[in-house]
This record gives sequence, C-alpha cells and structure tokens, in this order.
Amino acid sequence: MELSRTEDGLDTLAAAIRNCRKCDLAGQRQHAVPGEGNPRARLLFIGEAPGAKEDRSGHPFIGPSGKFLEQLFAEHGIRRDAVFITSCVKCRPPSNRTPTASELTTCINNWLLPQIQCIDPKIIVLCGRVASLGLLGEPVKISQAHGTLVARNGRRYFISYHPAAGMRFPKIAAAMRSDFKILAQLVG
Ligand code: SF4
Repeated sequence: MELSRTEDGLDTLAAAIRNCRKCDLAGQRQHAVPGEGNPRARLLFIGEAPGAKEDRSGHPFIGPSGKFLEQLFAEHGIRRDAVFITSCVKCRPPSNRTPTASELTTCINNWLLPQIQCIDPKIIVLCGRVASLGLLGEPVKISQAHGTLVARNGRRYFISYHPAAGMRFPKIAAAMRSDFKILAQLVG
C-alpha cells in the first residue's frame, strides 16, 4: 500500500486494520486497535498487543498500564496528544498470550511498518520484549538494553519496559522513570 506522510494515510490504514483478517487473531477480537495519537508525532510508542479493555473499546492503552504510561508522560513533560501509541499486533491474543512469530510478522509488515512510514517519528519507543523482538528482529534482554537508543534501517529505536511490567514491579517502574528522563532529553 503506497502511503504519503499524512493523516489521511493513517486513517486509511486504521480503516483497513479494523477490517483485517490476515491472521487468526481476527477470529476472537471484538475490535482491532489501530492506535491513536498525533499523526506527526515525534515519539511513537509501540507495545505488544491490545488487552481486554482495549479489545472492548478499540482504543489503545486505556487500562491500568495506559494510566501508568500517562503518569510517566506527565512526570516528564510529554503530552499524550503529542505522541502516537500503538502495538505490534492490533488484535487481542486469546487470554493475553504472547503473539506468535507469524502473527507478529503479518501484522508488523502489513500495518505497523506502513504506520511508521506515515508518522515518520523522530524516535520509536519499543515497550518491552515483544516490541523489541518484532521491530529489531532479534531477542533483546530488556533489563540490560533499557534506556538505550538503537539505530536500525534508518530509524532510531529507544528500548524500555512495557508499562504493564512497570505497573506491577516497583523496580521496573523506577527503571522506566530513568528511561523516560533520557527520552525526554533526546526528544527535547
Ligand atoms: S492481528 Fe493484525 S494481521 Fe492479525 S487480524 Fe489483527 S490486524 Fe490483521
């Protein structure tokens, strides 16, 4: 799909994602969740997959981990309406299982990469192990790599934890706060 860097391009993608049946995850979803935010965002946040609340509503990061993410944004002077938030796969895996390699590849190649092309962000924030694997194409040990910037295929990726982990574990929350401090400086 040939797309220009415009809001129209993102809207076209979102409409196609909502009707997508390219992998088995389509069968059990209530809503595909294309993602939301500023079409010209300098920061693009990528999580793993929609959870139960996102599946019910069609909106990204609206559950407790979304609240934690918003808290991190507020603490570091990042406005939610200045970023774009999405996930590697757009449909909720049953019982929140990890997406399979095939589901990841299918959804990333068909939808996430074109979304990145449209938004053309300054930095892509990979939230957790699955997003890092999906976009960098290799396993990443988040406890070692978090807070670092990786250049790959002409893009800059910043590695951090998934907010769901930060919400559950105080040590990870502290690590995320230090990551976001670096991120706020990078995006300046
Ligand atoms: S997860 Fe992605 S590829 Fe699979 S059906 Fe949903 S939108 Fe399509």
